[in-house]
Amino acid sequence: MRQAFIYLFVFLFVNQACAQDTLYARQVIKYLTSESCLGRGYVKKGLQTAEAYICHELKQNKLQPLFGKSFTQSFFHPVNTFPKACELSVNGKKLVPGLDFIVDPSSCSMTGTFKLQSIDSTHFIQVEGSKNISLSFKDKLTYSVGRKESNFCGFELDRARFKEMPKDLVVNVQNKFIPHFKSKNIGAFIAGTGSSDSCIVFSAHYDHLGAMGKRTFFPGANDNASGVSFVLNLMNYYVTHPPKYKTVFLLFAGEEAGLLGSQFFVESKALDLKKIKFLINLDLLGTGSDGIMVVNGALYEKEFKRLHGINATQNLLKEIKKRGKAANSDHYWFSEAGVPCFFIYTMGGIKAYHDVFDIAKTLPLTKYVDVFKLLVDFTAGF
Ligand SMILES: [Zn+2]
Repeated sequence: MRQAFIYLFVFLFVNQACAQDTLYARQVIKYLTSESCLGRGYVKKGLQTAEAYICHELKQNKLQPLFGKSFTQSFFHPVNTFPKACELSVNGKKLVPGLDFIVDPSSCSMTGTFKLQSIDSTHFIQVEGSKNISLSFKDKLTYSVGRKESNFCGFELDRARFKEMPKDLVVNVQNKFIPHFKSKNIGAFIAGTGSSDSCIVFSAHYDHLGAMGKRTFFPGANDNASGVSFVLNLMNYYVTHPPKYKTVFLLFAGEEAGLLGSQFFVESKALDLKKIKFLINLDLLGTGSDGIMVVNGALYEKEFKRLHGINATQNLLKEIKKRGKAANSDHYWFSEAGVPCFFIYTMGGIKAYHDVFDIAKTLPLTKYVDVFKLLVDFTAGF
């Protein structure tokens, strides 16, 4: 009977702890996807608001700053933004930004009425003049960050929402090109209990795509408020369960603009890369019904096997897939510099990606707790 009580207690305790994990995750994701953060980009201090929030969480937990006395490391990069008008009417119909159309991220300002002619069934350009307007149909709208200002203004239309042949355009787009936008990486650590000077690193990018016009922004719940919440959850865990190795938490900016924050960090030598025992980068952690993908899993066979073993023993995820190198998130520059690392993302569930549908409300966090258990156990094995 006593045994049964102990089991019940352990069961309740573990589940309570896990409920806390997702409760906190939801709280972080809600804030980072809110209008205050405006898609954690380049309009109205969206990125800075997210940065202040994350730094507050680090200070609250009494973590040590990674950059001397500072939790942040500044770097500068060019970015093209649309803080004001971003309006489009086609054939007399006013279209909804984000839903019906997106502007090409490198577009310049453009106002006026234009007549289009078709190049083929999906591409259209301005009939006369300097051909500085273009429009194309897409099955899915996928936004990104512009790093330059072009001499044209381009639009992508959702084919399913606009079925006519586009002929007459009324355009009002105002861009603002910022040659030296100040972004900040965030870094903190917890000292290890052992004598080794090696460290374990967890990273995730906190920037996203920002806003497009006055009212439309890209919340980026899965990409990557989920990963940020995960790193902060790990931080909470290690504060109460002191790790053997020094454990570093990195939250990068500039990822969506081309892995710029992590590149700057690696080149800055703010951390001795040779001391990194292993780095785990987390991006897109909000689903998991089809398991996880481990980028670099094919490179670090021994570590991948161990991860697989833990999963099999604990019966956590449906599948753990591996692939080779890929320049698809912030682990890339570390990997190129010879740092052993994995990039982990969850698979299955929602399809929203780099669009206005990547919102907190529909993010399932299906396997959040299981991935958490898996990584805590995996890290403990070093
Ligand atoms: Zn991402």
